[in-house]
Amino acid sequence: MPKITKDKITIPGLASVHSHAFQRAMRGRTQRQALHAGSFWSWRGLMYQLVEQLDPERMYTIAKLAYTEMALSGVTLVGEFHYVHHQNGGIPYDNRTELADAVIRAATDVGIRICLIRTAYMRGGYQQEATAGQQRFIDPNTDLILQDVETLRQKYADHPLVNIGLAAHSIRTVPLEANKDLSDYATLHSLPFHMHVCEQRRELEESVAEHGVTPIQLLADHGILNDRFVGVHSTHLTKNEIKLLGEAKAFVNICRTTERDLGDGLPPVTELIEAGARLNVGIDSHCCENAFEEIRAVENDERSRLEARTVVGNADFLLDMGTRQGYASVGLKDVWEKDSVTITRDHIAIAGLPDEYLLDGVIYNGLPSMVEQVSVDQKVLKNLQPEDVARTQADYVKVLKNILSS
Ligand SMILES: [Zn+2]
Repeated sequence: MPKITKDKITIPGLASVHSHAFQRAMRGRTQRQALHAGSFWSWRGLMYQLVEQLDPERMYTIAKLAYTEMALSGVTLVGEFHYVHHQNGGIPYDNRTELADAVIRAATDVGIRICLIRTAYMRGGYQQEATAGQQRFIDPNTDLILQDVETLRQKYADHPLVNIGLAAHSIRTVPLEANKDLSDYATLHSLPFHMHVCEQRRELEESVAEHGVTPIQLLADHGILNDRFVGVHSTHLTKNEIKLLGEAKAFVNICRTTERDLGDGLPPVTELIEAGARLNVGIDSHCCENAFEEIRAVENDERSRLEARTVVGNADFLLDMGTRQGYASVGLKDVWEKDSVTITRDHIAIAGLPDEYLLDGVIYNGLPSMVEQVSVDQKVLKNLQPEDVARTQADYVKVLKNILSS
């Protein structure tokens, strides 16, 4: 798969198929014990504060910075799990897809592919009222959600870098009947269908309380698991749920840098692969931006879980997971070979490695600074010159000064 010459190694473009671009603005602000101690749920409190301060232009500026940083790290495709849809208080914009359009524009201005995964969010949680922070995510019914999906599909039908997917945010925020309707629509139109699943143990307890079964079992019981289903995180699974994901040939999206950051636990990666599930990766919260780390972390964290070495697969397998499998999980299996990343061999981190070990060096020690050139749709990205990056960064710094000031 990689092409090796005397000076360079060229690999397929890297796919990061789970992202919440706006969360890039939280980087570095959630790590202190006194302020954000405890848990995923306290982290989520800050995320809601940020959400209340987003407008379309701020959304665009933050997303553009996030995507620029991703592209510099070799990412050619982002799956944007987009769930901030409305104005504060939950009032829709006149153009209902205003914020989705802003995010899409950010990606296409950088020049990378985007699968805008229009995400359904319908309630605060099981037996929980929606908080103020959640109002911007919520739609009262699936008709409105699917109307937006139709709008986006039509609007971007001819755009070479844009395609549209569909997601249910999670079992806790989308009632079962709605979940089935959304999944049926995705099946009817052959769209990818993504969902956060089994990330936190509390989520499992709530699923059992509401439905009597854990999340993956519930989805299997209601025909929602299939080969277009992408289970994001899939951390806490029963043996039978691993089997169900494998039998369905579902995708499992692993976001190790974010999962580590949030203290989510370790997913049963090797069991999932053995069962037949297909793995890929995602940058998710943008707490740490290095696409190579996202890939190798799947192997390295599994080593920690199993107390053994080389457990998931060799570098070719990991590269396939970070490229082809990512593209396939957002409905782009036919274009993945059109995107590529060229890496210089003249870099301190891999200098001197012979051809036979070069890919291992790139996967296990890859850094954004090794990336020399990124091509999407067989064209070199022109918008990553230092002056472009500096402008994007300056715009972002201005936005950052006006939000999350404390
Ligand atoms: Zn997520």
